[in-house]
Amino acid sequence: MNAMPADTFTTVRSEDALVRFSQVKKSYDGIHYVVKDLNLDVAKGEFLTMLGPSGSGKTTTLMMLGGFERPTLGQILLNGNPVERLPPERRNIGFVFQNYALFPHMTVAENVAFPLRYRGIRGAAAGAKVARALGRVGLEAMGDRRPAQLSGGQQQRVALARALVFEPSLVLMDEPLGALDKQLRERMQIEIKHLQTSLGITMVYVTHDQSEALTMSDRIAVFHDGRIQQLADPKTLYNAPENRFVAGFIGENNTMPCTFVGREAGLAVVRMADGATLRAADTLLSGGKAELSLSVRPENIGLASGQPNGPGNLFSGQVTDMFFLGDHMRLSVAAFGGQTVTARIPVGQVRGIAVGGTVHLACSPADCRLLED
Ligand code: ADP
Ligand code: MG
Repeated sequence: MNAMPADTFTTVRSEDALVRFSQVKKSYDGIHYVVKDLNLDVAKGEFLTMLGPSGSGKTTTLMMLGGFERPTLGQILLNGNPVERLPPERRNIGFVFQNYALFPHMTVAENVAFPLRYRGIRGAAAGAKVARALGRVGLEAMGDRRPAQLSGGQQQRVALARALVFEPSLVLMDEPLGALDKQLRERMQIEIKHLQTSLGITMVYVTHDQSEALTMSDRIAVFHDGRIQQLADPKTLYNAPENRFVAGFIGENNTMPCTFVGREAGLAVVRMADGATLRAADTLLSGGKAELSLSVRPENIGLASGQPNGPGNLFSGQVTDMFFLGDHMRLSVAAFGGQTVTARIPVGQVRGIAVGGTVHLACSPADCRLLED
């Protein structure tokens, strides 16, 4: 699978970059690179998320930026200065670790004060900073408690206060909400996002949860196998994935093999495995490859009878599964000679459709994207 070429820096102007990874590679065993050729700028004030499955190199990248791991090759710049030789406490970076390990024998206030000790800040000055940090996360009254006396969400806020207490310009968070239940996680996403905007800090955030990334980020770097697959704002990533990995990882996509046939009226014409012809937007094609994938989201496939704007692409198949999901039905349809196509159909439209029956579906060429990789 291709990734971004090595010389693709991001859209950030270099004077606006707080962080720059330049040709960074990391190997733990001297044989395999787990971060392969990372070129990435993070702009001042930006919320940048590294999103990817487990093992894709996100934590390693964050640890290198925080100073807990060294790049095997390449350079990391902070405000234009190389930082490889700076220890973590001299980088002025706040860090919330994956398992935000609070010290159980210390009070909340002592936990939050911990990073100040490393920086030689004690006494009244430290007390004032701790109070301010606890106030920011809504825990001003909890300073004397021990972590075990707090809920999971409150413990998470203590970890946040500890990362903010020395007023860093950059904060790194590694899956900070992983231990929380869904509702609390969604509330904390919004709280963290508000804190980041109101304090004007730059955030580099790691998650494997695509909806979390879409909610919080200015830009998302999608990681897979030690490489950035695509770097874009959430809307672009969702609407215009550039390869099959991103198409499959962000939201849901039907991705089906097809062969390029030609162009017609500004659209690409492709032939599916069973010989059916479909039309698709061809914005991405470099033109070299004939064997492609056609990608279309389940919400963009409807019943043929219900298409108001003319037929677009029409195809038929046999319903293999049908699930009720409250606001829609989810249909699995065997089409194009055995390919499973998933469609989301409004509940009110599914009358007369049953497992084993034939269904006629439609999708607009504008919603069909062709992928080369
Ligand atoms: P992610 O955070 O995306 O799950 P990681 O950066 O933790 O990915 O891991 C990337 C790869 O590096 C994985 O294959 C992992 O097993 C390996 N790895 C991570 N940390 C270490 C380490 N300290 N020593 C050896 N291998 C490691
Ligand atoms: Mg990780």
